[in-house]
Amino acid sequence: MVLSLVEPAFDLLDRSLLGSPRRRLRVAGMLPTTLVDRLQRAKLHRLVRYAGKHSPFYREKFREYGINPRHVYTHADLGDFFTTPEDLKSRPVEDFLCARPEAGFETTGTSLGVNKRVYFSNQEMLDYGRDGAAGLYNLGLRREDIVLDGFDYSFWNAPFTAYFSLQYMRCFHVIGAFIEPQELYDRMKVYRPNVILGVPTHMVRVTEVAEREGVWPVKFLLLGGENLSERTRAYIESVWRGARVFLTYGQTENFGMTGVECPQKGGYHVSGLGLVSEIIQPDEQGYGEYVYSTLDRTVMPFIRYRSADITRWTRNGGCTCGLRVMPRLDKIIGRCDELINCSMGNISPYWFEEILRDIPAVGNEWQVKVRRGDRDDIIEFHLELNESGAEGAVREQIFRNIETRFPDCWRYYTKGFFEFDFHFHARHTLSNGRKLRRLIDARKDAWSQ
Ligand SMILES: [Zn+2]
Repeated sequence: MVLSLVEPAFDLLDRSLLGSPRRRLRVAGMLPTTLVDRLQRAKLHRLVRYAGKHSPFYREKFREYGINPRHVYTHADLGDFFTTPEDLKSRPVEDFLCARPEAGFETTGTSLGVNKRVYFSNQEMLDYGRDGAAGLYNLGLRREDIVLDGFDYSFWNAPFTAYFSLQYMRCFHVIGAFIEPQELYDRMKVYRPNVILGVPTHMVRVTEVAEREGVWPVKFLLLGGENLSERTRAYIESVWRGARVFLTYGQTENFGMTGVECPQKGGYHVSGLGLVSEIIQPDEQGYGEYVYSTLDRTVMPFIRYRSADITRWTRNGGCTCGLRVMPRLDKIIGRCDELINCSMGNISPYWFEEILRDIPAVGNEWQVKVRRGDRDDIIEFHLELNESGAEGAVREQIFRNIETRFPDCWRYYTKGFFEFDFHFHARHTLSNGRKLRRLIDARKDAWSQ
């Protein structure tokens, strides 16, 4: 009874009073966790009933799993039911729709050749923008700032997340988009933007141009759409002197807005009001797959959606930012399909980021392949070396980093459970597309040859 009143009252407050990013952030920082919990329960209850009524997919699944929507208030009430990326790929998008869509986006190209389609209404995008503006304000964006947007606009929604957030911030912005780095640099320097948005691999290239040709004062760069290693972050920050580099974490499925990094870094605050979040099958260190429900969507809501991203909860200890009451996810250490079980351990791209992060002779592009050797696995490094880099010294540093950072793994190596192999390449020769797959299991190819 009380629960049913909390949610409409909050919706009214949410839409009418909390439009200004500053006010929104201040209220978010004061919300008691008990109220957040009650809102989540009420909103999930509403969502499950709504989707069960309007979406053919959810109606069918709830029947199959014996779920009565009237009894669902938490993820646990859904038992073994999850929505998966495979569901999205294998079913027509119409099966998920609960209302008429006004905008469509796709996930970026995958090796499987099927892009997931995700639809929204204009109002939903505006709502995401309002939340995104509070996140940007939290990072220090103000109305007087000048913003350059370097996102790729083809089919995916990250640039629109930024666009609608900037609508609320009302600061001056220029859309440069995903053009050749030298051209983007040449044209953006006229505006001297002090906030730069874009995709990590692209902004590294733009930063390389800036390193050669000159920088201007930049407050921060906000990067999203891909993971960013700490070494790349440190490089970009060192070039744009005094600038900070922040990350967002999102998926097309969630309008690129799952979490925004805490200004003190060290994790992404996720909205406790717009999402129900869960980490499933955690290992001893708490790492598992991140799963969420979108609470405020009416066109294509997701219920207990498996993100395929591996992360864990991290404590908000020491965080004093405006989003401190919102739970914080740790760094994404890889995707479920990127984890490879081999003689080196259960490895993910994150391992190699950690191994390579403070070796300046190694460029930002690298790839590791797991191959089958005569007896055991071979971990094959493909590294782009800077002009001054010496192969022997790099090899030694890699061994030292493994020994100190992954001692179990080093022990397996010294016992001869697996081997390392090193291939060095000239700069800018490894990556031919936008995203270089960091870790590849090449053992399957060997079997099929
Ligand atoms: Zn924080």
